[in-house]
Amino acid sequence: MSRRTLNLDDRLYKYVLDASLREHSALAELRAVTRDHQHAGMQISPEQGQLLALLVKLIGARRTIEVGVFTGYSALAVALALPADGRVLACDVSNEYTQVGRPYWQRAGVADKIDLVLQPALTTLDAKLADGEAERYDFAFIDADKTSYDAYYERCLRLLRGGGLIAIDNTLWGGEVAKPVDSLTDADTSALQALNLKLRDDERVDISLLPIGDGLTLARKR
Ligand code: CA
Repeated sequence: MSRRTLNLDDRLYKYVLDASLREHSALAELRAVTRDHQHAGMQISPEQGQLLALLVKLIGARRTIEVGVFTGYSALAVALALPADGRVLACDVSNEYTQVGRPYWQRAGVADKIDLVLQPALTTLDAKLADGEAERYDFAFIDADKTSYDAYYERCLRLLRGGGLIAIDNTLWGGEVAKPVDSLTDADTSALQALNLKLRDDERVDISLLPIGDGLTLARKR
């Protein structure tokens, strides 16, 4: 028995999926078509998608934000978990990538729940703040360019209600974040290291860094 998180070898990871994954057919198909994409590693894992869906239901989310859509798997997972009047504000800059997912949003019957805005996410989030939308959202998922994570986090924190939840992906960054902070690292790693340390001491939120996928930090707004 270990008191630490288990390392999942291929056999045990397969077991996790076999024993717990409930994946809508549209999600499974979208994951299959994204598997051959040159940036397939940008897609969240299916058990992460299922966790996001569970979290959305747990907090009774109705209005959610996604920063970084890629081919639309997480937006679809969240949209499927939302009530009929729920909405995902989906922020991305790539028409090419996001259009891969749109047929699957349609197939799952949730396309009208996903408002895709193709422009820099900070522009979209700042516009929502300027429109008086602060504290009007319940949930946010941040999974985009790492050097802007802190800026996304600050915007999302203002847009969320108290008790709202922010999920931040890639916070373990393939283990790179464990390198000494003062060692020479690339900008992405440095940004994630700085954000992780900031979150640890951020009194505005309750947090948990989950070693699921590439690391997923949950931050609940106080
Ligand atoms: Ca990611």
